Amino acid sequence: MSHSPPSASRGTVYIVGSGPGDLDLLTLRAARLIGEADAIVYDHLIADGVLELARPDAERIYAGKESSNHSVPQAELNRMLVRLARSGKAVVRLKGGDPFVFGRGGEEIEALVASGIPFEVVPGVTAAAGCAAYAGIPLTHRDHAQAVAFATGHLKDGTINLDWPSLARPRQTVVFYMGVGGLSEICRQLMAHGLPAEHPAAVVQNGTTRRQRVLTANLATLPAKVAAAGIRSPALIIVGTVVRLQSTLAWFPRPGSDEVKD
Ligand code: SAH
Repeated sequence: MSHSPPSASRGTVYIVGSGPGDLDLLTLRAARLIGEADAIVYDHLIADGVLELARPDAERIYAGKESSNHSVPQAELNRMLVRLARSGKAVVRLKGGDPFVFGRGGEEIEALVASGIPFEVVPGVTAAAGCAAYAGIPLTHRDHAQAVAFATGHLKDGTINLDWPSLARPRQTVVFYMGVGGLSEICRQLMAHGLPAEHPAAVVQNGTTRRQRVLTANLATLPAKVAAAGIRSPALIIVGTVVRLQSTLAWFPRPGSDEVKD
């Protein structure tokens, strides 16, 4: 059925995306590699239940949350991946969503290349795709948006260093990752660069899981609504007129449904 290599190779690092939260959104390739790995180095934001697919004797190493003090520094993590592979292990480096979308997958691969360690990358459903689908907000739509941009809303020294004039252009959807803390600044900048206060915007928290919450508002009202609702990370901000479709297209969770395991 598959053209993928049949099994995980020793001495190789697999940079694997685990999708946005719903375990069913894991790729078959990811599930197979996780089931075969000798060692799994995993992040905070990985799909619930994914580690249960690992061999009981697989080494499980928590790499932590990027923003917390308990996380392993990136350089140390890179060295750890090299060390595990050199000891002959099949290593899965497990990440939330897709490894190449705000996942530092590129940085880790650079370290592997520099050390001559073989690697493969397994894509995952990125949070923007997962949250949009499960919230009922198409990222593009012929009547609304002909382009979509993914941006980081991470606040640094009270500002967010982005190309605001391009993000504030009409007929596109902009998705902000890591943007809850910087939400007021995001909305302020988009309005300052020409988008109207009534421009639709939404927040999706814990997208694709049974804890998913979706709030829709506009650039003027979203920050207060999000604060009042106590929305916290992980949450994604979707800006664009496609957000208007949510009231008609929302389908998840189905009333009484038990389909999503979390
Ligand atoms: N590589 C990941 C992104 C890592 S950055 C990917 O491709 O999805 C972490 C950010 O992703 C979070 O701050 C949040 O903005 C977003 N995110 C990840 N999972 C999410 C989820 N289930 N619901 C909402 N946002 C999510």
